[in-house]
Amino acid sequence: MTMNREGRPTAAGEASVSAIDTFTGNRALQQEEALIFEIGRHGTTGVDLDEPEAFTPRLGKLQRRLPLDLPGLSEPEAVRHYVRLSQKNYAIDSGLYPLGSCTMKHNPRLNEKAARLPGFADIHPLQPLSTVPGAVELMAELGRWLIEMTGMTSVALSPKAGAHGELCGMMAIKAAIEARGEPRDIVLVPESAHGTNPATAALLGFKVVTVPARADGTVDPEAVKALLSPQVAAIMLTNPNTCGLFERDVVAIAAAVHAAGAYFYCDGANFNAIVGKAKVGELGVDAMHINLHKTFSTPHGGGGPGAGPVVFSSRLAAFAPLPFVRIEAEGPVLVEDKAELQAGETPFGRMVAFHGQMGMFVRALAYMLSHGGNGLRQASEDAVLNANYVRAGLRDVMTQPSGDRTCMHEVLFDDGFLDGTGVTTLDFAKAMIDEGYHPMTMYFPLVVHGAMLIEPTESESKASLDLFVATLRDLVMKAKAGDVARFREAPRFAPRRRLDETRAARQPKLTYERPAPFEQAAE
Ligand SMILES: *Cc1c(COP(=O)(O)O)cnc(C)c1O
Repeated sequence: MTMNREGRPTAAGEASVSAIDTFTGNRALQQEEALIFEIGRHGTTGVDLDEPEAFTPRLGKLQRRLPLDLPGLSEPEAVRHYVRLSQKNYAIDSGLYPLGSCTMKHNPRLNEKAARLPGFADIHPLQPLSTVPGAVELMAELGRWLIEMTGMTSVALSPKAGAHGELCGMMAIKAAIEARGEPRDIVLVPESAHGTNPATAALLGFKVVTVPARADGTVDPEAVKALLSPQVAAIMLTNPNTCGLFERDVVAIAAAVHAAGAYFYCDGANFNAIVGKAKVGELGVDAMHINLHKTFSTPHGGGGPGAGPVVFSSRLAAFAPLPFVRIEAEGPVLVEDKAELQAGETPFGRMVAFHGQMGMFVRALAYMLSHGGNGLRQASEDAVLNANYVRAGLRDVMTQPSGDRTCMHEVLFDDGFLDGTGVTTLDFAKAMIDEGYHPMTMYFPLVVHGAMLIEPTESESKASLDLFVATLRDLVMKAKAGDVARFREAPRFAPRRRLDETRAARQPKLTYERPAPFEQAAE
């Protein structure tokens, strides 16, 4: 494999790519795109500026000695560069996006329209509250929906992502334990948990103790009971869990946790499967984050902002952080400062400087209001139906670690069906790219060997699911027929083949170094 100056593998050097190499490196309409620093020139700009009149700079020693090393492009060149880059992104708007755990569903354009209304888009967090009553009312309304859907008591809207919501919920739990004056420093986390759960607990100084999973990936209340003690602060449990299964014993687990004086934090990232079907407050949950960007369809991935509001039970409601919306007789009031607190309100502090992701609040509420309660329930039902449709279409050729059990909104396969083929989960996922699909989630949850987690979401049609199932069935047949090269060499048709993903994650190269010193390059 040949590398370019930036250490990126170049297509041209790969003999096996295809029989025909192109001079440009482009493949049909798939354009090779160099870094902007590689294509930009000094002295070119998209705008015509008059030569400045003579002046005496007053920057003293701070004045630049070398010209600013910015890549210059004409306007059409700049437009092409960014449009081509944008086309290299696989997005929910370009095809089915089966990335399990991430809920990559359609983002209705109505939400975008609402978020761009000047009354929401153009307000400033430091504006006097009296000038933005509509925004406060929107936050109150969103909070009301979240509380109603979860059967909880209060909500903190400000956390900016699921992981941030976990931190918020666990900080409330920590504050509640400190208020009780108890030395509880252990948090129980099931083996199948998302990595953010143990990370959150550890960040707050808790010791993480792992709860072993049953063979089907669910949590056994007896295993939890065996680990409970006066040292345990909380359990962090995901429900539906990361194997796509509803934790059937969740009520027994909650009761045991409460009896031991601990709290129940629920990772609500999979809320999309149960909206309108189950209220977590009735299951014994004390705090749960909701990923608005998953369940309530605000765009995410590749840089879209998230929002992770946290709902609290009556046991933790008083500790919810500032700011929060208080409903008073005259209407909703945004409580931003300790000085405004009333008796019984003991927030642990605050998570963010201002109020959270207003744009996401607008999108999420637009999604809720346009669907209505019945529509939201149907979205959950359809998400579960679609996942089971995929499961039914593949269960005779792929293997399920949990046995042939109905799943929730995502279906989990392991790599058992690839035994003896020489094809791995990674190879299989890469071959999906050649077929025009973003791969499913791979190797997560960790409790399952070679895991493949598929979440089609409710917004796929039957025709789209049929094509997806047929594609995967075809790949399975090819793997079983011994066509190993197709998998090992995949992706063959993507602009980049296999990257050193570990190095990309651990040692990202975020600065550009000119191959020649700038003074020379500029000449
Ligand atoms: C997505 C997810 C998270 C983290 O949410 P972010 O918004 O990405 O921070 C946590 N737990 C589970 C199970 C998830 O799927």
